[in-house]
Amino acid sequence: MNWNELYYQDAYLTEFDSEVISCQSRDDGYAIVLKETAFYPEGGGQPGDQGTLNEVHVLDTHQTQDVVIHYTDAPIEPGTRVHGRLNWQRRFDLMQQHSGEHIFSGLVHKTKGYENIGFHLGEDTVTLDFSGVLNEADLLNVETLANEIIWKNVPVQITYPDQKELSTLEFRSKKELEGSVRIVSFPGADVCACCGTHVSHSGEVGLIKVLSFQNRKGGTRVEIVCGNRALKYVQAVFRENTAISHLLSANILETSQAVTRLNQDYGSLLHEIHETTRRLLEEKKAELSDHQPLAVLTASHIDPKDLRVLCNDIVEEKHAGVAAVFSLHEDGWKYVMISKTMDLRPLCKALNARFNGRGGGPGDMVQGALTSGSEEELRQFLQDSLES
Ligand SMILES: [Zn+2]
Repeated sequence: MNWNELYYQDAYLTEFDSEVISCQSRDDGYAIVLKETAFYPEGGGQPGDQGTLNEVHVLDTHQTQDVVIHYTDAPIEPGTRVHGRLNWQRRFDLMQQHSGEHIFSGLVHKTKGYENIGFHLGEDTVTLDFSGVLNEADLLNVETLANEIIWKNVPVQITYPDQKELSTLEFRSKKELEGSVRIVSFPGADVCACCGTHVSHSGEVGLIKVLSFQNRKGGTRVEIVCGNRALKYVQAVFRENTAISHLLSANILETSQAVTRLNQDYGSLLHEIHETTRRLLEEKKAELSDHQPLAVLTASHIDPKDLRVLCNDIVEEKHAGVAAVFSLHEDGWKYVMISKTMDLRPLCKALNARFNGRGGGPGDMVQGALTSGSEEELRQFLQDSLES
């Protein structure tokens, strides 16, 4: 810990006074270095802080070697006294997520022995990669244990043990560490080397909720949210499920059973519709006379595959010269025409032109869609075209 890293002296420092040491122009703004700062620079998976220096906006904070660089949208003269103000809402949210991640990863390590091998603190959620396979029951268990640590409101301990103490200390660490090591402990859950900012008591994490997990390459990727993000998430899910329960007139904790019943009803209805349509089409087909030069059948909402089968049956069973089947849909007609004796392409072209349609195909089978025309007009048009 350096004397000018105010965020390490007090992670809750939201305002401070300092002096500008240097200010350099960059392509996308300015890079300002201060004598001391409470702006945490990106590191250890935690994004850099945002806020203001006097009236100037700090868009991001990074560190190169030992220097903290504030990326700003305007310059400030070196030597100027500045008042720094953090976007505290954002920083506290990041502290809730980061501390929650430690508690969760520590408990995965404790219960399963897996290492955290990846940590991404995103805009919406926190993504963690673990070195072993976790299933739903494992995650439910860790989620419960993690929230119990929150209820215990244990004080977070941050220490800088010397090399001798370090050699006997058991702690999680993502990389080989040199020099002074900062150890962050959540008693009962985790001991880990970390350079980030943390809440002072586990209770401030508020709530830890697992959102999803994926087993991949022998490991597990887990998505969690903590603190205010978890509250917002639970509120949104509750709002959604309340709306669903009203729509289904179902108890709020029994919506999935209600949807299962609805799906079954829907499945039976679809089956019934399919059977009724099939019978209706069989009847319509039976009514057609044999050996006609033109056999036209109209129906509605038949899918294109069934349309082709039906049209083909009419040619085969009724020995029609030309069979045409039209199906009416919300956006107009779908059609198929089949003939063993004539090239249907000119007729198809004329039909499309007359009824604002499109389509085509090899000469013995054409299909397409029309956007206008009544059943009567279609029949008349085909009749006239084949007679002429
Ligand atoms: Zn950390």
